[in-house]
Amino acid sequence: MAKDLLIGSHVAMNGPDYYLGSVKEAISYNATTFMFYTGAPQNSYRKPLNELKIEEGRALLKEHGFDENKIVVHAPYIINPANKNRPDLLELTNKTLISELRRTYAFGAKILVLHPGNHLGLGAEEAIQTLVENLDTIFSQDGTDVRIAIETMAGNGSEIGTGCEDAKKILDLCHYPERLGVCLDTCHVHDAGYNVNEVDDLLAEFDRIIGLDRLLVVHVNDSKNIRGAHKDRHENLGYGEIGFEALCKLANHPLLRDVPKILETPYINEKAPYSDEIRMLRDEKFIDGWKDKYLA
Ligand code: FE
Ligand code: FE
Ligand code: ZN
Repeated sequence: MAKDLLIGSHVAMNGPDYYLGSVKEAISYNATTFMFYTGAPQNSYRKPLNELKIEEGRALLKEHGFDENKIVVHAPYIINPANKNRPDLLELTNKTLISELRRTYAFGAKILVLHPGNHLGLGAEEAIQTLVENLDTIFSQDGTDVRIAIETMAGNGSEIGTGCEDAKKILDLCHYPERLGVCLDTCHVHDAGYNVNEVDDLLAEFDRIIGLDRLLVVHVNDSKNIRGAHKDRHENLGYGEIGFEALCKLANHPLLRDVPKILETPYINEKAPYSDEIRMLRDEKFIDGWKDKYLA
């Protein structure tokens, strides 16, 4: 099997095996990388690191040739680091993010994906300013070399960070630019209005505004909604409005060779679709009706 494509999916981290289980799950999909949350995605409660079988997981992933520099952690999405309305919450948000950076480092990973947040009616400019101030505070108190990848968002509700320009602004304004990069989510940019089917144009645009060297992660998802819908509902590969061809071209693009590609497509009948989706991307071949066996 060709192991060159840097592709994986988000994986769970549950007891009793925790990180060891996450690595096993990634291996079961024939993945070469993966993404995980260091606890529940929807809250900031976190189990102590010494209970998470990190050593065992790291030993197993090294045995299987995973590159830890390309393993991705996703920050809990409950936090809103762009929220200026609630200074009381901001302290908790920053504490959570500093702790997430430390936790990411403890797992041996180097990339932490972060949703830039919502402006909640205060306007995008103000929110971006708040986000940058918080990032500066966080980085000034953090001694790790973990980089935060700001995820491109679909523009659902008052989400900020919907396009290359927003990401560029955040990267430029932050006083720790070497600590920041971008996570491009194909469903989100499609929903934000970008044409993901023009893969080369999309990458050229990203390169022109942000620079491809700042692209740390790609989330490979099809979208349930039409371009520009600002919805953010992921679909399985080939079953959405983007389609397999473009997503496959992007995942295999030579310019993205060293960028981890992560699937966040939905489970089908409570079963993970990732081994099939990874195989199709690796073979660069869509299998008609591949979902059927999950639905049977
Ligand atoms: Fe995300
Ligand atoms: Fe995503
Ligand atoms: Zn999404």
